[in-house]
Amino acid sequence: MSKNWRPATQLVHGGTTRSQHGETSEAIFLTQGFVYETSEAAEARFKGETEGFIYARYGSPTNDMFEKRMCMLEGAEDARATASGMAAVAAAILCQLKAGDHIVAARALFGSCRWVVETLAPKYGIECTLVDGRDLANWEKAIQKNTKVFFLESPTNPTLEVIDIAGVSKLANQIGAKVVVDNVFATPLFQKPLELGAHIVVYSATKHIDGQGRCLGGVVLSDKDWINEHLHDYFRHTGPAMSPFNAWTLLKGIETLPLRVKQQTENARRVADFLAEQPQVAKVIYPGRKDHPQADIIAKQMTGGSTLVAFELKGGKDAAFALQNALQIARISNNLGDSKSLITHPATTTHKNLTDEARDELGISAGTVRFSAGIEDSDDIVEDFARALKAVKA
Ligand SMILES: *Cc1c(COP(=O)(O)O)cnc(C)c1O
Repeated sequence: MSKNWRPATQLVHGGTTRSQHGETSEAIFLTQGFVYETSEAAEARFKGETEGFIYARYGSPTNDMFEKRMCMLEGAEDARATASGMAAVAAAILCQLKAGDHIVAARALFGSCRWVVETLAPKYGIECTLVDGRDLANWEKAIQKNTKVFFLESPTNPTLEVIDIAGVSKLANQIGAKVVVDNVFATPLFQKPLELGAHIVVYSATKHIDGQGRCLGGVVLSDKDWINEHLHDYFRHTGPAMSPFNAWTLLKGIETLPLRVKQQTENARRVADFLAEQPQVAKVIYPGRKDHPQADIIAKQMTGGSTLVAFELKGGKDAAFALQNALQIARISNNLGDSKSLITHPATTTHKNLTDEARDELGISAGTVRFSAGIEDSDDIVEDFARALKAVKA
């Protein structure tokens, strides 16, 4: 296996280990435990003198293939696969902190991520300051003597704001803090946080990595030292391990990631360009369009656009509901990254628990809609939007 392989090759072959049967497709090892030939072999395995698995909560062969393939793609030394994206986020943040530590996080976060830093962490004496992450000066101002972790997502959910990952990482390095990036929206293909200076990358593999709406999964990636020092024991003893069945599903899903993301990005771009011309639409936000407010940072840190489009309808909630109800291809769902186009109204679903003020800060209005492009034919998707918009007053 070559480190120089390009992503499409890595994602088909990376990390594959074959059993004595030489199977073509990756095998699923649905086993909780492993047996040892002798007592001495068990003793040696537990002492760490021999390579091998001990118990599926610690690691297992199918999960190992998934972790190695993700490491190759991300350019990371080591990884741990988790049962969901949230298990990955919670583990990545909590495993390295203790009471008295401080987190600075961008306020535009996936709802559950925001709950982890804003509500859960303080229960254990870990304080958090939420900032408007678009301006580096806000990160700098929020730094305290005890700041240990910077946490961000870019592009953000749902309004696709972008944060300067290299800039935030530089600030963190000055004070010895670690930067954790939730890279779900960019996908591992379009943005490489570790190359930009971040220390830890997390994914909800539920999204583009499965990409076919089947199972939950997550992954934490970093260097070997950080994983050994912080995540290794936390992961073994708190039990967020991924099911080997899901690891297998995700291994098969990830083979087609580049094909799917390419088509989704093309579809999203076409929808964004189409919507920008429509009288019912007040604003379109799409990383990849020249009119994105942070097009300069996107050019610096992303190699592709996005599979998601955010837009605002002039007619508010009524218009958003009418559009969603009239669409025949895009299905109403709060999920994203699926091969099926999905559409959601954040103010009444994913972001309904925020205060009006917090929603305003994030640019989520009653007319904001988030579209996650699927892999359908882009002509059909655009024609469907054109037809459905007739149900919406200009
Ligand atoms: C979906 C998502 C998560 C959570 O992932 P699950 O697999 O649903 O637990 C975290 N961050 C972002 C940006 C997401 O989109």
